[in-house]
Amino acid sequence: MTKNINIAIDGPAAAGKSTISKRIAERLQYIYIDTGAMYRAITLHVLNNGREALDHLDGLDIRFSNDTNRAIFLNGTDISEKIRSRDVTANVSEISSISAVREYLVKMQRVIADEKGVVMDGRDIGTTVLPEAELKVYMKASPEIRAKRRLKDENQRGIDVELSTLVQQIIRRDDLDMNRDISPLKKAADAILLDTSHMSIKEVEDKIVRMAEEILKGE
Ligand code: C5P
Repeated sequence: MTKNINIAIDGPAAAGKSTISKRIAERLQYIYIDTGAMYRAITLHVLNNGREALDHLDGLDIRFSNDTNRAIFLNGTDISEKIRSRDVTANVSEISSISAVREYLVKMQRVIADEKGVVMDGRDIGTTVLPEAELKVYMKASPEIRAKRRLKDENQRGIDVELSTLVQQIIRRDDLDMNRDISPLKKAADAILLDTSHMSIKEVEDKIVRMAEEILKGE
């Protein structure tokens, strides 16, 4: 194996992107970047400080911890739990559709991936952030299956929520993400489509790692 590559993982809400991406990054000893967490961080900041905060994005310090935990810090505070709140989830797609927010984060994401050896997940990684990524995967699964997976996560975090509510939230968020004007969620033409509806986490992980290793061997 020679040079490192970049791996772009895109797909709709709760498709399992972050779980899989984290595991792939661990296996390849790559850096994992959860771009959804970055949009959530700005959303939390706006909810706490008002819309005016969008005029001062340059002053924000957003960073991830270096350990496998990948905690996210905003101006030095660990906000990993807070960005998963219902309020942030309900508002993040609207905040993500603002061009200033996207420009600011896309620039930051490209700098992080510049050295290669990055697994980055989100909505526009293969199409916009890293169009030159050596491996692009677009993960999909039905809204019901994704909602069931999300329900399990929420229950594990001690949160009680109806499955039907999660299905509705997922459909609404996908609709906003796929239909916004700037870099909407869509599969890049050269991305590999993976329907994970009937695949285990390990099967998806193994498949992507195998594809990455093939590319690395061929470098
Ligand atoms: O991945 P996650 O569900 O945490 O993403 C939260 C939201 O952030 C998405 O619904 C989408 O609106 C936005 N997002 C985005 N572009 C990305 C990653 C996330 O617009 N690359």
